[in-house]
Amino acid sequence: MRLGIHTRINQGFVKAAERMARLQCNACQMFSRSPRGGKARALSQEEVNQFRDLCMKNDINPVAIHIPYVLNLATSDPEMHQYAVDMVKEDMSRANLLGASYLVLHMGSHKGDGTEKGLAQVAKALNEAIKNYHGEAMLLLENTSGAGSEVGSTFEQLKYVLDELKIPRAGICFDTCHGFAAGYDLTDKAKVDETLRKLDEVVSLANLKLIHANDSMFPLGSTKDRHAVIGQGYIGEKGFKAIFRHPLLKNVPFILEIPVDSDEDWERNLKAVRRLAGS
Ligand SMILES: [Zn+2]
Repeated sequence: MRLGIHTRINQGFVKAAERMARLQCNACQMFSRSPRGGKARALSQEEVNQFRDLCMKNDINPVAIHIPYVLNLATSDPEMHQYAVDMVKEDMSRANLLGASYLVLHMGSHKGDGTEKGLAQVAKALNEAIKNYHGEAMLLLENTSGAGSEVGSTFEQLKYVLDELKIPRAGICFDTCHGFAAGYDLTDKAKVDETLRKLDEVVSLANLKLIHANDSMFPLGSTKDRHAVIGQGYIGEKGFKAIFRHPLLKNVPFILEIPVDSDEDWERNLKAVRRLAGS
């Protein structure tokens, strides 16, 4: 299986790649900048080369870049819209520089404009950002938990935006915690089968490029985006065993975004996941 973690980059990208190698991850995700916004630090050619070398040598593939939390693609406010477009553009070029395969996007909230308008705004913003884009990194739309006025919590909504994008290189990233919070049951093999059947029917499994494997601190349909350690939330070990061993997900990389910090804790959690996956 391809398995990695969302890692911090506070010590730079080279240290982050070294950490992935140490933890024996063969996939990884990171922000390309502070997730709270602000001006992004310039990347030196040396840092970029070293990062790409380390990923190649240690078979860390794919690398996914996650967009900062501060931007809202669904907004109708012209200033915030432009801010989101510019940041996606910048992150796409940083993702390409770093040799990342994917740029993962949260769609944001419509803030009272309604879901339909919000989704149309997301498509508009992304189409502006990808105009004249020729990079390798693929845009991935991540499903949301549907909290407040968040858009993108159903497969139908993801499909709508995907169809509107004027770019062939786009797909989806399925977050198990968000999906569960939005009402997609994943607690055993039959439920996972059913959720994947729906996903395939609406979005097509061919568009599923990445999974954020996170347990959920709240029950099914809560719309609460609170990640739990694998096996310690409402999806539980049985659910994750079914997910990690599912034949339809055999070639989909998993990224853990669970509340774990130290390398020791990550090691323990990665081991637990590999055990559940039977690998
Ligand atoms: Zn996620």
